[in-house]
Amino acid sequence: MSGTRRLALAGGTIYANPDDDPIRDGVLLIEDGKIAAAGSRSALEIPQTFRRLDCSGRTITAGFWNSHVHFFERKWANAAEIPAPELARQLADMLTRYGFTSVFDTGSEWRNTRRLRDRIEAGEAPGPRIRSTGEGIVPPGALPPDLVLHMMGAMKFPAPEAADDAQAAAAARRLLEEGVDGIKLFASSPRTAPLPQSAIQAAAAEAHRAEKPVFVHANSGADVLTAVRGGVDIVAHTTPHSGPWDETTLTEMQQRQVALTPTLTLWKYYARHDRFSTQQQVVETALGQLRAWLRLGGTVLFGTDLGAVEYDPGEEYSLMAAAGMTFRQILASLTTTPARQFGDENRLGRIAAGFDADLVVLKGDPSAEIPALARVECTLRAGQVIYPLAGSPAGC
Ligand SMILES: [Zn+2]
Repeated sequence: MSGTRRLALAGGTIYANPDDDPIRDGVLLIEDGKIAAAGSRSALEIPQTFRRLDCSGRTITAGFWNSHVHFFERKWANAAEIPAPELARQLADMLTRYGFTSVFDTGSEWRNTRRLRDRIEAGEAPGPRIRSTGEGIVPPGALPPDLVLHMMGAMKFPAPEAADDAQAAAAARRLLEEGVDGIKLFASSPRTAPLPQSAIQAAAAEAHRAEKPVFVHANSGADVLTAVRGGVDIVAHTTPHSGPWDETTLTEMQQRQVALTPTLTLWKYYARHDRFSTQQQVVETALGQLRAWLRLGGTVLFGTDLGAVEYDPGEEYSLMAAAGMTFRQILASLTTTPARQFGDENRLGRIAAGFDADLVVLKGDPSAEIPALARVECTLRAGQVIYPLAGSPAGC
């Protein structure tokens, strides 16, 4: 990690937020971890005391959010014991090399993930801001067998089970008392009875009393409808295996103002052993669900189920574009939308004076070429370079 109190990013194209035209040949001044000013080079002088970083030919945006990740791979087990350099390497590989400065972990061992976060916040290893739901609440017997977890590369840890309203409320309360940032519910499982709508409602009420968001893992359109009626805030997946979402489901999602993390790449990845025509059909159905949601003006949060898929988000960006999202809509799903969804809209998600200097410097121009969103030159969190770990040719 390298950093300086005063830093100037000079010469890049700055997307201060997805709604405004970019500032070409821009200057961005960072002081004490905050954005001091941003403007065109002709209008904004760089004071002598600022270290200068040449960003010509680069694009600068606010730091990205991935609103669906998991710290449940075996590599994160015993987070307290992982040597700091190895921890830094793993965080860079999974997150900061792709510009993620904020993540929402929607299912992992809370005690362990909290330890991981504490180490990042203590400055032991550079990494993103982490929010976590801790363990997801599941219907009884819903957890996959140990062998499946092992093949997925996942740590083995128990999840709270709930069959009825009282159990769901108690499980949510316990997690909230332990300090989680949200609640994750699994609406159903292939092996057991689904969580009743009233149980979803009971858990959601506990979370909302604590002003925390509720995520749902839904396996079908029917699950989505039940969960949305139960009061969840974020639908954590599209559900291509149950076919297109019907009008009732889409309308209720819209009326209740839920947000969606599409996780499109996940379906392609899970279908990779199937025949090509099956793969195409699964992906096309997921794209159709996202398209239908966009037509209603639905809220989209970028999220990939990271930890269950390959780390590179490039394919997810391309699939979102294939569903009709423009560069600016994708950028919003990575920045302003999650900042608003999770209550950080006054300090994160945009490039504005006084905001935390969480930034991504991209090689090239993602407005012309979507995959450039995954080509990160450097990532800054609160004005500190957190990727690359050992500096970059550009001088990061
Ligand atoms: Zn997930």
